[in-house]
Amino acid sequence: MSLSSPVPQHFSVRAVELDDTDPLCSYRDLFVDAPSVVSYLDGNSLGRPTKAGAEQVARFVAESWGGRLIRGWDEEWFDLPLTIGDELGRVVLGAAAGQTAVGDSTSVLLYKLARGAVALRPGRDEIVVDTDNFPTDRYVLEAVASELGMTLRWIESDPRSGVRADEVAAVVGDRTALVVLSHVAYRSGYLADAASITRVTHAAGALMLWDLCHSVGSVPIELDEWGVDLAVGCTYKYLNGGPGSPAFAYVRAGLLEEFVQPIWGWMGREDVFEMAAGYRPARGIRRILSGTPAILGMIAMRDTVELIDGAGIGEIRAKSVRLTEFALELVAESLVPIGVTIASPVDPSLRGGHVTIDHPRFRAATPALWERGVIPDFRAPEGLRLGLSPLSTSFSEVVAGVEAIRAELAVGD
Ligand SMILES: *Cc1c(COP(=O)(O)O)cnc(C)c1O
Repeated sequence: MSLSSPVPQHFSVRAVELDDTDPLCSYRDLFVDAPSVVSYLDGNSLGRPTKAGAEQVARFVAESWGGRLIRGWDEEWFDLPLTIGDELGRVVLGAAAGQTAVGDSTSVLLYKLARGAVALRPGRDEIVVDTDNFPTDRYVLEAVASELGMTLRWIESDPRSGVRADEVAAVVGDRTALVVLSHVAYRSGYLADAASITRVTHAAGALMLWDLCHSVGSVPIELDEWGVDLAVGCTYKYLNGGPGSPAFAYVRAGLLEEFVQPIWGWMGREDVFEMAAGYRPARGIRRILSGTPAILGMIAMRDTVELIDGAGIGEIRAKSVRLTEFALELVAESLVPIGVTIASPVDPSLRGGHVTIDHPRFRAATPALWERGVIPDFRAPEGLRLGLSPLSTSFSEVVAGVEAIRAELAVGD
């Protein structure tokens, strides 16, 4: 195949068929139009806004903030971090009410949960994490370890796959306080076996904290059933909450009473408006809060949570698998022959909602792709991530994206 030839025609034909028969195809019309975008392949990093979400934000400013002013806190906002937390729990986390709160960024919540968790395992001085975990996870744990004189036990994970239960079993022991891993690896898209790894962690007497940033909203999650202790995740990726929308934290009900996080702010205190002397954590998951939560940032995500509730996470996962299978087939046929390699698991049961492909020229090609309205993202050293958000991405968009990648690689050859 010569470099200048387009991707094989049969892919375009199949893409149209797959779009026509896609049970979720009507959801695409619910997103804000972006006329200059030919192919959006980064919904795993920043989800697109829904039209209804955008309207709800505008209405919130006009009616709730503008109209209710400070009364809004008493009427709704004070409880919103927990109300939305419960919605997330029910629809996308497999978590019963009262265990999830929406609050700070993922980075800050990770610190609060990790710091609170290790305090529950006194005498144990190790935290297990993997070398290819997302940077913020590694840095936050470095901070906790250095603060408390603990040691990080690194699992050397393969950037093209991820962490397996046997690798966790090999490093946990009676010194392990906490294991922190990503459910879907941000680079390869590897989907970890969260239930098995949680069991292995518990068998060593340690606590398990899952980072769900790249799985929530695209992969079924059953925190209660899996016996997970703690979890955090973003709401601006597959939940389309908007740039900087606040993250969520989950603390298992059985741990809540003894769990104390380190940022003792007024909003997480018992009897907030007593303004009393001394900090006493609020009962329940409210104790995760510290200061005034970002209410404005919580508004848009609710629409997507409602959409997911309607579509069903099983149906969303099924489309996600079809999208990544199709993308990998297309890459294998039209990009691998010109030097691209696949850096994600080929077995769909081991893969989340995005795939990563490698080529030494991807760093240089990315700005040119963005210029053409084709928007994947680049991850050093030479990875291009294709994020396929099941509610908003079409199969034809995948073809257009791969076609543009192929054309960019041809430039200068
Ligand atoms: C996106 C992502 C984050 C982001 O953290 P912020 O505090 O929102 O910047 C953290 N962890 C993982 C695994 C991510 O994918």
